[in-house]
Amino acid sequence: MTATKTADAGERRRMCVACRRLQPLVRLLRVRRRESGGWSVAEDGYLPGRSAYVCRSEECIRQAIRGKRLARGLRCQPGAEQLAVLHLALLEAMAVGDDG
Ligand SMILES: [Zn+2]
Repeated sequence: MTATKTADAGERRRMCVACRRLQPLVRLLRVRRRESGGWSVAEDGYLPGRSAYVCRSEECIRQAIRGKRLARGLRCQPGAEQLAVLHLALLEAMAVGDDG
């Protein structure tokens, strides 16, 4: 799967897995799938690996977790416990981002 690049590389956009809107990267949280099978919230730097994006919004985070859209985007099936941990991590990352 390849993403079509737009002319303005300065403002890259990605689609939120919950609301499916294109958002600038700064407004999104990035979740990366680790090779070990876990998850991590990757805020900065570009690390290889399948990743999915979700808005910095409680509603989108909740939908992404509950609707298993994140799991689909990352093509793995975490257990309920893993999802709960990820949910918290996303909320924390969101709070940190808000503060600057
Ligand atoms: Zn969203």
